[in-house]
Amino acid sequence: MKNIYVTQPTLPPLDEFMPYLAQIWANKVLTNGGTFHQQLEQALCDYLGVKHLALFTNGTIALITALQALRITGEVITTPYSFVATAHSLLWNGIKPVFVDIDPISLNLDAAKIEAAITPQTTAIMPVHCYGYPCDVERIQKIADNYNLKVIYDAAHAFGVKNQDGSILNHGDLSVLSFHATKVFNTFEGGAIVCPDEKTKRRIDHLKNFGFVDEVTVVAAGINGKMSEINAAFGLLQLKGIDDALTKRQIIDVRYREGLKNITGIRFANSGSHVANYAYSPIFVEKNRDALYEKLKENGIFGRRYFYPLISDFPMYRGLPSAAPSNLPIARKISEEVICLPIYPELSHDSQDKIIDIIHDFRASN
Ligand SMILES: *Cc1c(COP(=O)(O)O)cnc(C)c1O
Repeated sequence: MKNIYVTQPTLPPLDEFMPYLAQIWANKVLTNGGTFHQQLEQALCDYLGVKHLALFTNGTIALITALQALRITGEVITTPYSFVATAHSLLWNGIKPVFVDIDPISLNLDAAKIEAAITPQTTAIMPVHCYGYPCDVERIQKIADNYNLKVIYDAAHAFGVKNQDGSILNHGDLSVLSFHATKVFNTFEGGAIVCPDEKTKRRIDHLKNFGFVDEVTVVAAGINGKMSEINAAFGLLQLKGIDDALTKRQIIDVRYREGLKNITGIRFANSGSHVANYAYSPIFVEKNRDALYEKLKENGIFGRRYFYPLISDFPMYRGLPSAAPSNLPIARKISEEVICLPIYPELSHDSQDKIIDIIHDFRASN
């Protein structure tokens, strides 16, 4: 049997991509906001149910630019239980990350613990919708309003996620998406900032193009964050299959929950009452997590310990007072228990059954 990885990108038939390439070759517009770039921005606004969206070359540059767009400085409250790019985007802006522990159920920033971490230097909160599970957006907004803080969501996992009010991406001041190859919706590499108003969208568009407003006017020390036409064209094609991909992911998620439900010492995350995107299938192993992780590997199953180690344990963060283990007990426990099981639209039921069997066998002998 072939190796099975935590994810595998969905690729549309190659011949369906050829007409897009032919059009790029004919137009000779390769980047700088060409036709496909404009079309994908509009198509994503429509699909996601958001007002404005600026495409980026990747999610990390989008995060860095989002902080620039709102002129965030000083200290920003964030979660240690995420991909390193969340906190790295703060360091790239000379901002001090302040880690706050997560909620054991949602696995997101614990809103009840945010206030205690606010200081006169705090200017913003950067929560993550981890695994696509929505943050407590209302409570976070209330705190932000009370203390006059901005909220920038790292929504890299939250493509297509909705709650009762519609897209989760409409909360906070900005939300940042990643379209990396490993994500639910991908453009090989890519990302976007979602914003509520035209003026902010314009500022973001300037910032991602070196600060240029016109040929001779530069209004800010911008970066090159533009998505190319090839990536945008691929995104348009990919978007056609996204609903089908999400349905297949849901079936896989349900099969895992069913197949592994009566194993003591193995929990699932509570995905709550929102429209999930089944971006990840995390399980939490109370004992011998790493032994199970290795056992799966021996069988060619490459799960991932997302997120282990915690961001706050990496050398550039661990000296911060908020990185102290005593400040982050829940995040630590969760990160020592998690394995994200393979989930992607083409994962076969046979492969999935094999994974489920290995976990049953392991638990029986451990
Ligand atoms: C993937 C990811 C990013 C980074 O996105 P890239 O497009 O790979 O730069 C940031 N934050 C989180 C939570 C992610 O999972």
